[in-house]
Amino acid sequence: AGDPGATAMMVGRGIRTGYRGRSPPIMPPQSAPLTIDYVLLASPRGFCAGVEMAIKALTWMVRAFEPPVYCYHEIVHNQRVVDRFRARGVVFVDDIAEVPPGSPLMLSAHGSAPEVVAQAEANGGYVVDAVCPLVTKVHHEVRVRAGKGYRIVYVGHEGHEEAVGTMAVAPDAIERVESRDDVDALAETDQPVALLAQTTLSHRDWDDVRDATLERWPDMWVPGRSDLCFATTNRQHALLEIAALCDAIVVVGSANSSNTLALEQLARDAGCERVLRINSATELPDDLSGTVGLTAGASAPEELVQSVIDRLDPTHGVDEIRVTDEDEYFPPPRALRNLINGVSVGLSMAFGGIATEFDDRSVDASEVLVALE
Ligand code: SF4
Repeated sequence: AGDPGATAMMVGRGIRTGYRGRSPPIMPPQSAPLTIDYVLLASPRGFCAGVEMAIKALTWMVRAFEPPVYCYHEIVHNQRVVDRFRARGVVFVDDIAEVPPGSPLMLSAHGSAPEVVAQAEANGGYVVDAVCPLVTKVHHEVRVRAGKGYRIVYVGHEGHEEAVGTMAVAPDAIERVESRDDVDALAETDQPVALLAQTTLSHRDWDDVRDATLERWPDMWVPGRSDLCFATTNRQHALLEIAALCDAIVVVGSANSSNTLALEQLARDAGCERVLRINSATELPDDLSGTVGLTAGASAPEELVQSVIDRLDPTHGVDEIRVTDEDEYFPPPRALRNLINGVSVGLSMAFGGIATEFDDRSVDASEVLVALE
């Protein structure tokens, strides 16, 4: 680690890209200078298509309605994103009963229990469900397998919003596990068994639990591709590409972000001696040196990554190592499309400068967040 020649030789499958910071730094570096040689920047990192969709959708609601706009659960698991929306009058609630009848309401990207969706719709206001389509796909799998009489083993984190919402689709047919021990503790069953999962798990955790479940029920049903989403997979692959080359790995993201914690654990499992998960550049320690690897969970804005790079200020620059191009795009939730058409010209002028039909795809969530300031 720390040797530029070795780095160039060893980054095999990843492609080095000319790194250009995309967002202005949030804060100027104020602490003592660090002695970092290189930063290896994993790509893809940060916002995924589902988070992009959800952040833009809430922004369009903020622009279309007088405050307060309500949001069930944190729109994504990142404090900076949540705080920015709070400052624009969004009220985050954990219970639909807290939403005054008739108020505009968004349901978060993690997916909500069917009874929560029904309660929201019965509240009488404009409701936008910003659930990621890939979470919806798992809800569908749960509904179908439960309907066919399967016992569903679901790999997910206790209390995580996505897991709670998914299990609520068929609570009598599903049991949650996180480990081999959990699988061993499951009761025997005469029903056929299906294995489904939270989208943001670590691949190692998934593989381990899948193998344990297969040992117990060799004929069980598993989706052709695991439920772990493309964004989770890509970020983990990119991190693995750089982990062995780094003296330390920095993961930007919140403690309640499942895919961020999966990245942190993956770096440790890959043998990296120093792994730091931070919310922002202010949490960087003063004793980092050598080559630092940098990545970010799917709900962490690029501006946070940029501020970390500014603080690290590597002597020999930043190498971005890209393992794949990620060009997935999720259009706004159906309920929002008419609303966007209604405020289209205003949005175009805000983000494009000319009065024309607004194209949601033409702006990314990072720009939108900066504009919310
Ligand atoms: Fe969707 Fe995956 Fe992003 Fe979750 S991490 S919002 S499942 S794309």
